[in-house]
This record gives sequence, structure tokens and C-alpha cells, in this order.
Amino acid sequence: MIDSMTPTTAADLTARSRSDLREAEAILEGIERSGATDRERVLEPYDRAWLLAATVSAECGLLREVHPDAAVRAAGEELGVEVTRFLTRLQHSRALYEALGRVEAHDAGEARLVDVVRREMRVAGVELDEAARERVRALREELTLLGQEFLRNIRDDVRAIEIAPARLAGMPEDFVRQHAPGPGGNVRVTTDYPDYIPFMAYADDGEARRELHRRFLTRAVPRNLEVLGTIVRRKHELALLLGFRSFADLQTEQAIAGSAAGVRSFLKEVSAIARERGRREHAQLLEWKRHRIDPRATTIGEWEFQYLQEKVKAEEVGFDARAARPYFEYGSVRQAILDLNSELFGLEFSRSPDALWHSSVETFDVAVDGAPAGRISLDMHPRPAKYKHAANFGYKPGAAGKQETHSVLVCNFPDPATSRGPALMEHREVVTYFHEFGHLVHSLMRGRVPWARLGRPVEFDFIEAPSQFLEQWIFDHDVLRRFARHVGTGEPISEQMVERLRTARDFGRGVQTQRAVFLSMASLEFHDRDPADLDTTRVWRELAKEWSPVEIDPETRFEASWTHMPGYAASYYTYSLSRAIAESLSSGMTAGLLDTRQTRRYRDLVLAQGGLKPALDLVHEFLGRPHDLGAFRSWLA
Ligand SMILES: [Zn+2]
Repeated sequence: MIDSMTPTTAADLTARSRSDLREAEAILEGIERSGATDRERVLEPYDRAWLLAATVSAECGLLREVHPDAAVRAAGEELGVEVTRFLTRLQHSRALYEALGRVEAHDAGEARLVDVVRREMRVAGVELDEAARERVRALREELTLLGQEFLRNIRDDVRAIEIAPARLAGMPEDFVRQHAPGPGGNVRVTTDYPDYIPFMAYADDGEARRELHRRFLTRAVPRNLEVLGTIVRRKHELALLLGFRSFADLQTEQAIAGSAAGVRSFLKEVSAIARERGRREHAQLLEWKRHRIDPRATTIGEWEFQYLQEKVKAEEVGFDARAARPYFEYGSVRQAILDLNSELFGLEFSRSPDALWHSSVETFDVAVDGAPAGRISLDMHPRPAKYKHAANFGYKPGAAGKQETHSVLVCNFPDPATSRGPALMEHREVVTYFHEFGHLVHSLMRGRVPWARLGRPVEFDFIEAPSQFLEQWIFDHDVLRRFARHVGTGEPISEQMVERLRTARDFGRGVQTQRAVFLSMASLEFHDRDPADLDTTRVWRELAKEWSPVEIDPETRFEASWTHMPGYAASYYTYSLSRAIAESLSSGMTAGLLDTRQTRRYRDLVLAQGGLKPALDLVHEFLGRPHDLGAFRSWLA
């Protein structure tokens, strides 16, 4: 078993990570020296070396985004480069590659492991000459550093507007209470999510909204424009070295989409499916704007999309999202999400007293059907220098008998400890919470396959499907009435309000899908052309003309704070492809959402398989038929 002690200082983290990397290096050298070709002396040691390195990578990747101590964050960044160096070395080992090629696999899992690893090594350049492999190594290290800097520049750049209290008109009462005027008489609204998201949805003052939106989308400008340009150029060089036409082709080689051309044709199909619904919704939003704001309006700005959407929902659908906030107090939501996952997937959570990197972080030991299955931690509230978005981070990847999974949710929800009055959430934040929790459950389940290296789906573009599939539970009255009680009256949420939540969710789906296609096209185009004279801002604006359903603000630089760039890169389309798969999965829930026979079957056939089989084969087994776009079409009808 690998030691599971938590590092508390930069020195601890560095010492322990380096010792793990040295051990991994010694294991690799052992395989290279021995010339062995039996599973015990090749597959097992390979998987252990990979697990050691993957653990260092996960731990450092997490801590540099959340640790309050700048020295630990810096150590996490430095170690990130060292682990990249080792992982490249592991992929470039000719001796390992040949040994794997000669191993006689004893079962389907072993055969799959050999197959996946050899293919990955080929794509990573194991067959190149030494000079080319050296350049690949150098590029990957540089890309690690650039990616770190890109994310650091975003997380360190919180901007704000200072406005007269009267300009909070339209904001929910609890928001106004949280934002008392400062000494100068003005109220400060920041670009952190608990401020930004409600402000964009509700503030009646269009100028203030546009200004906050502009600050939000100029975070990390100008530096990150330069960093992103360099990232894209280095990725392109890497792709050419490895025999690909573009980085988009390289990145999608093992994905469901298969190539940049596969991505593009999928996106065009999505765009065609969403077109009619998007057009209808856009017309409704524009009509509201013409009646209430500007009779001559011909477009909708991205800074007003959320606001108009809320208004149309409030008036046409009879739904005001602010009215739902009192039902979603952070503490009760947190408990409800634990309880619901226990029921659906046979999990038990017991609170652990261990203090991790911050006093607000809660940790739970998890059992699946009564057997220990790892841990989760919840780091849920904003603080300085912390990751700004919502995501599930691996902390320790798992594998049966080797290491228990430890997975972490990092979010930015309202904080009961600092809130004046109850910390109320938007319903959409509750959906995000459950979505991210879906990643947690997936990582716990897939962290129990026998091979650490197969503990995640090989296809990157499948990764959002299980979480998107889970979102629908948070729109089910039978689920919500158990915990969504009004903070003032204790009254459970009514069937009628849940019905409205659903209608409100469905309104805007066409335009949102069109926007996702636009972002996906941008993510693809940044990485699918010769970047010698690439101007990301120009490409963004050109693509917006063809694909964006809303007008973009020319003063903004979306891509500079686009946290998906270093990791997702060309693969933003993952959200749309995973959504299509999630809708297929939903069509398999024929006996209602609380039928635990079906949810456990899904758990075992899909989640618990990790990367043991191709992702679409797992979906096929669960559904009893292959995935197609039928359910996705109905979803957008
Ligand atoms: Zn997700």
C-alpha cells in the first residue's frame, strides 16, 4: 500500500513526491534491465510505477490549485514538471515497449492494458529517434509550466466593480444583505462566482452588468493571451513531431470522436439539431428586450443573455429563480447530496476528523456495499488564491488492492461560515454540485479496477457523460421534497415549483447548445491550424460571427481566462458529446429515477468498469443497444 499521509508543508510534499518518483524510476529501470516478459515482472511493476507517478501528479495538481500556503503551491508547480518528465520517460522507454509487446496476457483486462499502454506510447513518440524524443520531452515540460502559469494568472486575478447600493436593484435580498456598502458608500461586487453568477442573472442595471462582465472576461489580460499563444504553438510543434497534422488530431486520436474532422462533423450535426429550437428561444429573448429595454434592438449581448433568460422565464414560464433560493441552504444541500448518492449507489459516508489543507475542507471515508472504497473531500467555498471554477480533482487515483481512491470536489459556493444569514444557493449551483459529485462517484467506482492505468476511461470525451446523466435527479420532485425546505417556513418545495424548475431548465437549451457549439469550434480551431500567426482573439471573433447565438463584447478576451485551455485544449466538444451519451443513458432509466435496481446496475456496468472496455461498449451493455443521437434529438426538440 502506498502511504496515505497528507503533506502539510512544501518540504514534506517535495520530499515525499521525489521519493515516490525515485521509486517509480527504480521500478522502470528494473523492467528495462531484467528483459522479462511475464506479467508479474512487467505488468504489475509497470502499473505500480504508473500509479506512483499518477499520484504525485494528482496531488501536486490539486494542491497547487487549493493550498493556502504559497510555498506549497509553488512546490506543487515545480513537482508537476518533474512528474511530467518521468511520465514522458515512462512513455518513451523502448525496453518497456518491447517487453509489453511480448507479454502473454492472461485475461481480457491484461490484454486491454497492454493494448492501451502500447498505443499511448506509440502516440507519445516511443518509436521516434533520440533527438526527436528529446524535443518531445522538452516541449512537454515547457507545456506543463505554461499551463500552470495560465491557471495561476486566472486564480490570482480577482477584479471588481464598485457601485452605488441603488445599482443592486433586481438582486435577491440575501445578496443585498451580503453586500453592505464600504466606507466610501459604495458596494463592491467581485468576479468570484458567488457574486458574478447572480449579478449576471438578476442585476437590472445593464451598464453595471456589462462592466462586471467585461472585468470578468479581461481577467489575466494581457499576460494570458501571450501564454495561450505560446501553448498553442508548442502543442502544434509537438503534434507535428509525433506525426499528426494538428494538435486537435493528436488529442482526439484515442477519443470517441477519433479526429479533428470527427469533432467538426459532430459539431455541425449538433448545430443542425439545435438550430430550430435556438431560433425560437432567441426570438423570445429578443422580443422581451425590445419591449422592455430597447425597441430597436436587433441582437442580444453575451452580458445580457443570462439576465434576459431569467426575465423571460419569470414572465413567460412563471418562474423566478430567486424564489427557489430559500429552499437551497448550503448545509442541507450538502447532506442531501450525500444521502441521495448513498441510496442510489450503495455508498456510505463517514466523517473523518482529519484536517487537510484548510479548516473548511470536510473529508469522508466511503464504503461501497459495506466495503471500504476510499475517501472524498469537499472544498466548497471561495478563498483567496483558490481555484475559481467548480471541478472534481483526483488526489490519489485508486486501484484494487493497491491504493484507495481519494477524490476532491473544489467548488465556490456560498459559505455558511462567513454568510450574514443563511448561505443560499441558486438551484443551478445545486445542479453543479450534483454534477461534480457525479465525477466523485465515478472516480470512487472506477478506482477499484485491478489496473491503476485502466482506472479511467481511455476516451477523454466520455468523461462528462456520467455527471451530466446525474443532473436530472436534481429536477425530480420525489428527490427534492426530501431536503429542499424553505429556510424561513420549513415548508418543503412544492410539486409546482419543481415543475417550474424543469420548464425553466428546458427554456434556453437550444441557445445554450448553440453557445456550446461555438465554444467547441473555438477550442477546436485554436488547435487545428498552423499557429505561426494565430491571433486567438481574431479567430474568436470570426467564429462568433458564424456560430455564436449572442453578440460578443469586443472589449473582452474570453480565451485569456478560459480554464479549459491547458487541459481540454481542442476538446471542449466533450460537453456536447457527453451530453448526447448522457441522454442515451437516461433513456435506459425506464423504471424512474429512484429505482435503485437500475442505478446499481448502471454503477456496476458503466461506472465501475473504468477503462477496462471502450466507453461506448459500456453504454451499449447498460442500454442493451448501441448509443445513437436519438435521445439527444428528442432532448433538443
Ligand atoms: Zn463535469
